Amino acid sequence: MARAEIISIGDELTSGQRLDTNSKWLSERLGDLGIKTAFHTTVGDSLDDNVDAFRTAVRRADLVLVTGGLGPTADDLTREAIATAFDAPLELRSEALEHIENLFSKRKRPMPERNRVQAMFPEGARIIPNPHGTAPGIDFSIAPNSGSEREAIASGSRIFALPGVPAEMMQMFRETVEGIVTQEMGLGKRRWFYHCIKVFGIGESDVEKRLPDLIQRDRDPLVGITVSKATITLRIAALCENDSEFRVKIEPTVKMIRQELGLLIFGEGEIDLQDAVHGLLLGGQKSLGILEIGSSMRIEKWFADRSPQDGSGLKVAQWLPSLDSLPKEWVKGTPNFESTEDVSISDVASRLAAAAESLRMQWDVDLWLAAGVYPTFASVISSTTLPSADFTFALARRGKSTKCTTVSLGAHPEVLYHRVAKTGLNFLRMELMQRG
Ligand code: ATP
Repeated sequence: MARAEIISIGDELTSGQRLDTNSKWLSERLGDLGIKTAFHTTVGDSLDDNVDAFRTAVRRADLVLVTGGLGPTADDLTREAIATAFDAPLELRSEALEHIENLFSKRKRPMPERNRVQAMFPEGARIIPNPHGTAPGIDFSIAPNSGSEREAIASGSRIFALPGVPAEMMQMFRETVEGIVTQEMGLGKRRWFYHCIKVFGIGESDVEKRLPDLIQRDRDPLVGITVSKATITLRIAALCENDSEFRVKIEPTVKMIRQELGLLIFGEGEIDLQDAVHGLLLGGQKSLGILEIGSSMRIEKWFADRSPQDGSGLKVAQWLPSLDSLPKEWVKGTPNFESTEDVSISDVASRLAAAAESLRMQWDVDLWLAAGVYPTFASVISSTTLPSADFTFALARRGKSTKCTTVSLGAHPEVLYHRVAKTGLNFLRMELMQRG
């Protein structure tokens, strides 16, 4: 498989003043063509470092895409670096000079002498037109059997040097480079296709343990595991010519994952847990109420922008700042219901269950989820170790007994609230799956 390297040039990038967005964009385009980008290199405005970067790149990549350093000033070194690295002296190209002169005359300005340098190209290079800028790009092949010093450096690599200005770079890639890569170089007949399987309720390493053969690096199709905000995504990827070839190719892999992970899978494709739960509520025509206690990202928010039309979905949501603020009439009869101090986890569970039952009846909904107690933001952020919380969910169900669960959840502050809210959503999902 063809491998690419992308080199981004400029002190403004290595100093952190500007983010290198060109590499991201180019890697994605190459990925679309089925070309793997093996390296991103960022190098400042130094001739020696540029020469090194180019020589290294052609040794390890078939395609080298370079952005930046094609301007007219002394710190624009790409031309010279290619000439030095591959022993290809710079020569003036009249067609490039004409283009630059034309551009200046259209702008009704004389061409400064220093812009002549933009018409200089390493010997043997082809010009990549730049319709909207003064810096034409360079298409430079390292000949495989030239017998020159070039051969000692690499065989068969091709360098495409484009300006750093993102809009010019993108246009030149689309209009010229992409065509050369697909037609002349014969790459890009196959491209990457992806299918995602979404999982919640199991750790990343447990997924790996349960699916050991799937995670092999040289597998085809490839399976990658990523975690974002406590949701695990298994991304299946394969190089194929079209979607139907891809579907056939991934079928045994998808089947194996479904068999092994079963109900831990909440959806496939671009779906998040709240979409899956919302779909189940609507599909089963179940109405829901939610009570949440404490400050946090709230489960209710996941449903906030979805208005139920037929009586199913979220009907009512309530929030209380603390366990003490639970009205006594909701929790009357539960153990120690009048105590506000030293409330045990089982007392929290009893109070939440009683509150959920009372509210479910009051609002006449099918399900009522009570969740608490969310840790305060201050306690999460000030925690010196990984913040964690004992967390209880109670689910009151029409015509059935109330279910309760208490979980101990720990995560980085940025993730804890997501994990807590998604654990509640998943508790609800399990109930909705059982009910069909
Ligand atoms: P020019 O003809 O405009 O001088 P150039 O090839 O010399 O083009 P640079 O001078 O390196 O390009 O950069 C031109 C502009 O593009 C600058 O604003 C720069 O910050 C931006 N730029 C350069 N490289 C990148 C990159 N990798 N990602 C995002 N922006 C970039």
